[in-house]
Order: sequence, then structure tokens, then C-alpha cells
Amino acid sequence: MSRESLVSMAFQAPQGTKDLLGDAVTRWASVERTVRRLAGLYGYQELRTPLIEDASLFLRSVGETTDIVQKEMFRFEDRGGHDIALRPEGTASVVRAYLEHNLHKTEGFAKLLYLGPMFRAERPQAGRFRQFHQYGVEAIGSESPWVDVEVITLCLHILRECGLMGAVMWLSSMGCRDDQQRSAQLLRERLMKDKPKLCKECQIRFEKNVFRVLDCKNPTCHEIAWRSKASPFVLCEACAAHFDEVRRGLREAGVSFDDTKVFARGLDYYTRTVFEVRATGLGAQDAVAAGGRYDHLVEELGGPPMGAFGFAAGIERVLMAAEKQQGAGDAVPKRRGLYLAIAQPPLVGEGFRFVQQLRARGVSAVMDYDGKSLKAQLREADKANCQLVAILGEAEVKQRVMTLKDLAQGTQRAIPLDAFVEEVSRVMG
Ligand SMILES: [Zn+2]
Ligand SMILES: [Zn+2]
Repeated sequence: MSRESLVSMAFQAPQGTKDLLGDAVTRWASVERTVRRLAGLYGYQELRTPLIEDASLFLRSVGETTDIVQKEMFRFEDRGGHDIALRPEGTASVVRAYLEHNLHKTEGFAKLLYLGPMFRAERPQAGRFRQFHQYGVEAIGSESPWVDVEVITLCLHILRECGLMGAVMWLSSMGCRDDQQRSAQLLRERLMKDKPKLCKECQIRFEKNVFRVLDCKNPTCHEIAWRSKASPFVLCEACAAHFDEVRRGLREAGVSFDDTKVFARGLDYYTRTVFEVRATGLGAQDAVAAGGRYDHLVEELGGPPMGAFGFAAGIERVLMAAEKQQGAGDAVPKRRGLYLAIAQPPLVGEGFRFVQQLRARGVSAVMDYDGKSLKAQLREADKANCQLVAILGEAEVKQRVMTLKDLAQGTQRAIPLDAFVEEVSRVMG
């Protein structure tokens, strides 16, 4: 390829990824702020883990027979021959970090929050991206049903404050590992006569991990797997009691849920309580947030046996659902900050001094450096949604005053130059 054709080639973000700019960034940042604030109220501390991990971490935790690991994980060999994966989800990394930093010895019970990009090589479609973003919490080191109640409550609290009102929560229990073995046997018996009709992959799943048949996207498999409306999970006495406690706790906390829906979470590590939050306005398949208990994962990743519970929510999905529910564009952003317009280009230096003084006081202030006309600057101030516009011209400098327009109120007045910074800080305070 010639140099010219390389230069003229227009690049685009890779399929299934997107740039965020303008209002989108504001809305994202507001979700992230809400998440951090509320998780903080509940005592969760943020941790940040790398975007890449040893691929075997996910094979061991998420499960070798899951779609995530088999079809969707970005996996590559690095130059040193290590088997690396871009993280497809957050829980495994958090538990890995929890153990690596000996939190099981120093803290015991730990409440952790994460936010960040995850990667799955899915076929891009509405609401699904190859780089998507999640926030989530993990409460590691307790089997108490109250931990389930707290995490679910926090999950719903965040969604509410992000503007998501129409959401329903499905609640179920997948039982302990013994229960799952018994349930798998029962499920195999239930599916046996239809086994030949299942897809090729489900034939393997039937033997290796029959619950995976429940999340097969093939319509025939789906129809067969879900023909029975009964939960595929049979609970022992201890698991049934745990689940009762969770439901009682949620009722006491005023959280409504639907425990009649039958569903399974498609990751191997779940035990006992699982839940999904579904928002109206998104596709039927799509949960905005989901999670559950994983009482064996810490041990399976090399730690002591200890219970844990967590959830993850997709930021793209939360924003999409909130927008659908509220109607796009009906929230007019509040005017904020100051635009300093200059009547004559030589006054840039003078103007910049004022702008810096305002910024030092925490007031957002912008100005033009390119000698635009006053009219063009005023248009720009309006476009930038500034609340105040100050006009500095030679006449103003001579009279030691500045003209200050309030675009929110539609007023205009002159302010002595000496009092300008003080007055603007007061108005914007
Ligand atoms: Zn059990
Ligand atoms: Zn299938």
C-alpha cells in the first residue's frame, strides 16, 4: 500500500467497541459516581485488577464448558508463551487478588467493589459489546444469608439512584454442590427422552455439565430444557433454610422479588442464592444486573473454604434501560460554569488571568484563544451550556468593570473588576 493511501485511510473503532464523548461521558461518570458513593455507604472498598489474567484462572472459575470460556474469551499466547486472557468478567480476578494479597488472613471478611471494562468476543448486537463495562461488588468470607440480603439491596439501591425504576428481580437458589449433583441427575432423567433432539454441543453438555443445556441459545434446546416449569434445583434442608432466611431478610428490607421464575446462571461457580434484575425496555434475554453466592470459588482458587456473594451490572445496559424508561432527551442539562469572552484579541492575557483565578477557586471557566469574533464567542458559550458569560473589552478595562450575563436567569449587570472573581465564585458557589 502506498503511503498516500495509508494516510487517507479513515480508521474506525473495532467492531463491538465504541468511543464515548460529550454527554455520554457525563452520563457514564454520573453512574460511576453513584456506584462509588453507595458502595461506600455499605462499606465496600474499591480495588482495581489488571485487564489481563492467566487464562487458566477463568477456566477454573467460570468453567471450561461455559460459552464464555469456550467461545467468547479473548485468549492469546504472549511472547513468553503464557496463556493470557482479557478478563471476561470480574469475580475471578477479585478472588484471585483477595488471595494473592492474603486478605483471607488479614481481613477475613472483605467487601470489595470494582468498576471497569470486560471483554468478550460476542457477535455484536444491541446492548452487547466486545468491550463492555461492569461494576460489581464481592463480599468474601461469609455464609450468612444477611450478606445475600445486603448485596442484593445495594444492587437495587444503585439501580434506583441511576434512574432505573421499572425493574423486577428474579430470585432463586441453585443449592449446594451436593444438591447440584442430585439436581443434575434429575435433569438428565427429565431430558433423556429428548436427548437426540438436542444440538451437538448440548449432547456434550448433557454428559459434562447438564445445566449448560439450560442456557443454550438454540430454540429447540431451549424449548426442551424449559418445557417443565419446575425449578431444576432440588435443595437439601440446610440450603432450603438458607434460602428462606434470604427471602425473609429481603421482605424485612422491603425488597420485592419474584421467586417463581425458573432460571439458571450460566457460570460454574454459583451455589445457593442467585438473582437477576431485569429492566423493562430491554430485550427479554437481558438482565441489567445479576449475581449470586459462590461458596466454593475461594477454595477452588487455592484459598480456605469460605462463603462469598457478589453481583455485576453492565453500565451500557443500565444507561440504556434508564434512558428508555425516562425517555431520551427530556432531561435538560443544567447550565454551569463561566465563559469569558474577549472583545479585542490583545486582551487574551488579561482574560486568562481571570480564568485561572476562577479555576483556582474551583469555578469552571473557559475562554477562546483564537481571536474569534465576539458574536462567535457568545454562540460558543451558549453551545457549551455555560451559566455565566463575562465580556472583557478595552472600554471595560478602562472603566475597571466587567459585563456579566447570566444565561440561566436572562440578566446582565456590570461588576467592578476588583470584585469580579469574588462575585462569580459567590454566584457559582
Ligand atoms: Zn444443599
Ligand atoms: Zn443446545
